Amino acid sequence: MPVGTLATVKTVTPAQLRDTGAQMVLANTYHLHLRPGENIVASGGGIHKFMGWNGPMLTDSGGFQVFSLSEIRKITEEGATFRSPYDGRVIELTPERSIQIQNALGADVIMAFDECPPYPASREEVEAATGRTYRWLERCIKAHGRAEQALFGIVQGGVYPDLRQEAAKALVDLDLSGYAIGGVSVGEPAALIEKIVKVTTPILPFEKPRYLMGVGTYREMTQAIAAGVDLFDCVIPTRWARHGTAMVNGERWNLKNAQFKEDFTPLDESCPCYTCQNFSRAYLCHLVKSREILAYTLLSIHNITELIRFTQRIREAIVDDRFAEEFAKWLAPAPDSSDP
Ligand SMILES: [Zn+2]
Repeated sequence: MPVGTLATVKTVTPAQLRDTGAQMVLANTYHLHLRPGENIVASGGGIHKFMGWNGPMLTDSGGFQVFSLSEIRKITEEGATFRSPYDGRVIELTPERSIQIQNALGADVIMAFDECPPYPASREEVEAATGRTYRWLERCIKAHGRAEQALFGIVQGGVYPDLRQEAAKALVDLDLSGYAIGGVSVGEPAALIEKIVKVTTPILPFEKPRYLMGVGTYREMTQAIAAGVDLFDCVIPTRWARHGTAMVNGERWNLKNAQFKEDFTPLDESCPCYTCQNFSRAYLCHLVKSREILAYTLLSIHNITELIRFTQRIREAIVDDRFAEEFAKWLAPAPDSSDP
């Protein structure tokens, strides 16, 4: 799922997004609640109509943003209180409130409000957050007022395998539409993410979607898919595009580099995207250096297409029983931290 934080995948129109092969888009409850507010979105006919995307959509619960972005916050059993970064007003987000907001936004999949502990965190802190996440989930289920929206629960438990497994078992007993693994990609080493995913996914039902939140590099996705994950969201393709970086065959290319200045070949000969079919590396280099807005659109189109094609290739390899062999490079541990 490409990330459309504020009901837009930055610099890309829904028509362009459709052409990348993307099927589902994620939007952020926290950000949309603050701006423009869920009532505006609901008055505009719901999130799909408001942003002009007629494919499936998922909204996160706002939990992750409350815990990662808000500087002034107070967490109690009731919920989380924080200050709006836009105008400083005090906002309280509870499980009930998060679900009401998501019911109003109207995405196809909505997420339970959870407490995402930081990394590192003590076992006691993580235990407390995991327990609270479960109690908040029970309140989310009660508050959920639109049966046509699928509610996913979120497994927390930090880097502690037994806490993860315990949390996953408790969630499965609630028979939800889908299950997410949250609280990863919060600064822990990549090897720990893989370990957490490996111990958690076997507990989550095979026939229901398993969603690894906030993950989307080539290596992280490949390893998580090997462990049984189905769904990802990540800002990397569009964020890197806005930094003038192209994702090509598992590499990161900085288009500002002099080597591209007179290179009139496409980014990737084999890529069917609009950018690769119509423009050269030299042109993209020129746009990026000139900070032309079109640079970000063209690179976003390519980067999203690249990651979608990567997952399509994995899907085909799994079907043909050549996944482990063909993706051995990505299934191996990361050689260094700058790895895409
Ligand atoms: Zn391309």
